[in-house]
Amino acid sequence: DSKSKGRNAYSFYSQSLNQSASERLKMDQLLRGALERNEFSIVYQAIVSEQGTRLKGFEALIRWSSPELGQVSPSVFIPIAEQIGLISEIGLWVLRESAEQLKLWQSRYDQAIVMSINVSPRQFHDESILPAVKGVISKTGLPPASLQLEVTEGLFLSASERTLNNIRLLKSSGIRLALDDFGTGFSSLSYLNQLPFDVLKIDKSFVDGLENNDKDQAMVMAIISIAHRLSMEVVVEGVETPQQVHVLRELSADALQGYYYSKPVSAREAEARFLSQSGLLNLSESIWDELS
Ligand code: C2E
Ligand code: MG
Ligand code: MG
Ligand code: MG
Repeated sequence: DSKSKGRNAYSFYSQSLNQSASERLKMDQLLRGALERNEFSIVYQAIVSEQGTRLKGFEALIRWSSPELGQVSPSVFIPIAEQIGLISEIGLWVLRESAEQLKLWQSRYDQAIVMSINVSPRQFHDESILPAVKGVISKTGLPPASLQLEVTEGLFLSASERTLNNIRLLKSSGIRLALDDFGTGFSSLSYLNQLPFDVLKIDKSFVDGLENNDKDQAMVMAIISIAHRLSMEVVVEGVETPQQVHVLRELSADALQGYYYSKPVSAREAEARFLSQSGLLNLSESIWDELS
């Protein structure tokens, strides 16, 4: 089924908790050379307006294809990259690469689309992030607001004042800030006030129960209403069925993202499906799928 398909490819290395010490050592070693060997790539997942008629932008998601290990899930190697001090380097690569891609797409198709990029809390400890983001903006000439950085609540568990300040400085350069995976883990409402978030992303775990769990519906409704009161836009992740789409529209979500619209795909495929003339036709056709 569509739910598990994307994960199956990584089933072996998703079980990282059971990794033996020697397997882990091997992975550390391979990860250290992966950037140089060009083993990373980026896939793009569409984020669409709640009516499903307009492309808002894409989330950039990293992929690691290792000749030795096969496809390794970012849920496995990103935490390792954080531990062994590689995350800033890898993160900057994702930032540069996806910003270049956005530049190309904006110039060919639509000025308004946004690229949403995941940033690990660790990256904000690093002083290089501020000049790096500014450098990318000046090099590409992108409007700063077309770059959106996604951070998770995990940030607040360990964040120093310096980290939060770095983020505020980044924000004042004009980029957008999103709180990712909201509703998982620690979800304190006070987080919403600590940084100037533009977007709140509601985690898939709420969406799974939307169709037949009234409590999940009540939670999502409440989260959306708080976010709107705080002038944040709400993106809902992990949308897989037309029923979920229907409920989320009733609840006034602003944008939707999930396998229902598209899995994360290569730049070429994203362009063909969502940006080129025929892609736009498909996007509007999805309304008819949903209504029928
Ligand atoms: P995330 O940022 O919350 O990204 C959403 C994840 O949910 C992605 O998994 C995406 O493929 C998956 N997803 C999207 N829609 C659906 C759906 O409808 N159903 C299901 N079952 N899954 C869906 P992915 O690509 O494996 O990434 C996992 C996590 O790895 C990300 O979660 C993010 O935390 C991290 N990650 C990915 N790329 C990067 C990166 O460039 N930098 C950093 N720091 N973290 C990254
Ligand atoms: Mg994300
Ligand atoms: Mg997320
Ligand atoms: Mg996640």
